[in-house]
Amino acid sequence: MVHPAINDKTIPEGTTCQEVSIFSQRTYIPCERPAVAIVKNRDPEPYYMCAGCTSHNVANRGAKILFQKEIV
Ligand SMILES: [Zn+2]
Repeated sequence: MVHPAINDKTIPEGTTCQEVSIFSQRTYIPCERPAVAIVKNRDPEPYYMCAGCTSHNVANRGAKILFQKEIV
């Protein structure tokens, strides 16, 4: 898995959400919906996240949005 850099200001076309899926139990299963933001939580490296995981992390885990794709 390639994490975004802390100062990235782009999300490459086709990038998917790296947040752990709610279906993930013992093994890491990524969410994989289209990524719309770069989010920093308590982990050392930021993650690409979809809209749903971004709002969940910001609302419930004190994560910060480093970059967000403009929705047009
Ligand atoms: Zn997601």
